[in-house]
Amino acid sequence: MAGWIETLSQVRRPHLGEDVPLLVFRAFRVFTGMYLEDVLGHKGATALIQNAGRELGKEVGERLQDSSLDRYIGKVIDFVKDAKIGLLIPVDLKEGSLVVALDECITCAGMPNIGKRICHFEAGFVAGIVEAHTGNKVRAYETKCNAHGDGICEVVVEMNYA
Ligand SMILES: [Zn+2]
Repeated sequence: MAGWIETLSQVRRPHLGEDVPLLVFRAFRVFTGMYLEDVLGHKGATALIQNAGRELGKEVGERLQDSSLDRYIGKVIDFVKDAKIGLLIPVDLKEGSLVVALDECITCAGMPNIGKRICHFEAGFVAGIVEAHTGNKVRAYETKCNAHGDGICEVVVEMNYA
């Protein structure tokens, strides 16, 4: 997926500009996700969306790369906030696993409880961010989501996952 960010960043919309309402982003994102789930089933759709997020996370992670882990985490938190993806909060970091919360999540903040977690792209994005720094493949999954009634998004990353 290398080079796609440069391609996408070339915008020519002299009348409409670069901003879109959040609802438009969510509709594109969630309708795509629901349709994929109809076609591929829950497991297939989740894997596909999560891996797409992972590819983007790796691209972004490579751009924010820093030899210091603390500085890298700081840059990622700033990026996620500046891009208005959400407010990334490290919750727990211990040997072999990392837990991060995403408050005010771009996809689900404020949504009513629909009984399922929907931020698989974001979970994959976090995985890609971690992989860009460690060079190791990790496993990630969403453990909390506004769409599941949890009031916040939370992603667990299992490191050293072969
Ligand atoms: Zn979310």
